[in-house]
Amino acid sequence: MTTVLISGASVAGPALAYWLQRYGYEPTVVERAPAPRPGGYAVDFRGASMTVLERMGVLPAIRERATEMGAMSYVDESGKVVATTSPEAFSGELEILRGDLVEILYDLTRDTTEYLFDDSITALTQDDEGVEVVFESGTTRRFDLVVGADGLHSNVRRIAFGPESSYLHDLGYYASVCTVENHLGLDHTGQILNVPGKTVGMYSARNNTEAKALFYFASSDLTYDRRNVPEQKAIVEEQFKDLGWEVPTLLDGLRTAPDFYFDSISQIKLDSCSRGRIALCGDAGYCASPLSGMGTSLAIVGAYVLAGELHAAGGDHTRAFAEYDVRMKGFVDACQQQAVDGARWFVPATKWFTRVRNLSYRLMPYLPWRNLIRDMSLKVGNAIDLPTYEDPRPRPAVRRP
Ligand SMILES: Cc1cc2nc3c(=O)[nH]c(=O)nc-3n(C[C@H](O)[C@H](O)[C@H](O)COP(=O)(O)OP(=O)(O)OC[C@H]3O[C@@H](n4cnc5c(N)ncnc54)[C@H](O)[C@@H]3O)c2cc1C
Repeated sequence: MTTVLISGASVAGPALAYWLQRYGYEPTVVERAPAPRPGGYAVDFRGASMTVLERMGVLPAIRERATEMGAMSYVDESGKVVATTSPEAFSGELEILRGDLVEILYDLTRDTTEYLFDDSITALTQDDEGVEVVFESGTTRRFDLVVGADGLHSNVRRIAFGPESSYLHDLGYYASVCTVENHLGLDHTGQILNVPGKTVGMYSARNNTEAKALFYFASSDLTYDRRNVPEQKAIVEEQFKDLGWEVPTLLDGLRTAPDFYFDSISQIKLDSCSRGRIALCGDAGYCASPLSGMGTSLAIVGAYVLAGELHAAGGDHTRAFAEYDVRMKGFVDACQQQAVDGARWFVPATKWFTRVRNLSYRLMPYLPWRNLIRDMSLKVGNAIDLPTYEDPRPRPAVRRP
């Protein structure tokens, strides 16, 4: 049986493990965290990824835990609503909290996949027969193939492809998200304030029992320690401390939040997602950034295509990895371009453009192209000719979380 080591147990990793075991491969997933990582922000699906989720049999479980968000409102510094967007603009066809999705995918694969938590790869040496892998825990094992599904700052990519700086392209923004109290009592909705180059807001989560605060700002490259959370919180606070509306309360929430995400908004661009027996999947290979709204769809579709191409090539990884690059290219390009275009709308650079955007959102429902935003993002979500791969095994039952 062909053995495949996958680094990363978030979205791309478990989805890839699912398809590989269905095609008769033996997947092992190594994850740096001690358990599937809970919590996090909302992620959504559009287009082709919905078909893949359906083929995986997980749509009902995801629908059961969907956020069911309604429209989002833009407010001014006094809290007055100045524009509203349709639910699909932010939440796609189906939206779920990232941690809930990870739990569903882990439950789907835990019986058929070996999971190694609290560990990481430190060295990879490939030869004609396979890849020798050294783990942080001190063990050494051989696998036929290795896949990095370990996110924007992929460890596998760094080891096998070279330094991150060769592939990471900053879009010129930073994003921070954390869990806060739903002090506005938002009911399946969110509110957002824009000032030039800054976007701050909150949306309700977990049936309004809590909320997620979001802070996005335009900035050239910042120097900070990626492990130093207080330093990163101080950067966010400095950026937003002079704003009105609910921002002081959101910053209070940030200080004591149980979770915290902060990173540059960046994309990964590679000519090829493989080097010999080592490949990349999801954000590790083609991160489109949070501004695309397509990262989770890319991870789900990418995992499906990578496993499917290996299966279709009868395990010939050279042929399969080349075909994977070709099939994904147009989709990745479209998703990455959507982030570049979306940035101007989500973090407007000037007061003038903010007004133009708000006016277009206000007029949109009355115009013949009222569904433009939904149609455009659906077009991006379907920018791949999704292959159907021969599926030899019956679908395993989905475990209840
Ligand atoms: C603020 C924010 C909002 C977003 N909103 C949306 C949205 O609305 N819609 C959407 O589609 N997408 C959204 N995304 C993007 C989406 O979250 C990602 O595209 C998606 O999670 C990618 O999945 P992945 O499995 O490739 O990588 P990740 O989810 O980044 O997972 C990588 C995994 O690898 C693990 N790992 C890292 N290093 C190592 C190591 N050395 N060894 C072992 N394991 C390791 C990590 O712990 C993690 O579990 C958003 C992202 C952010 C940050």
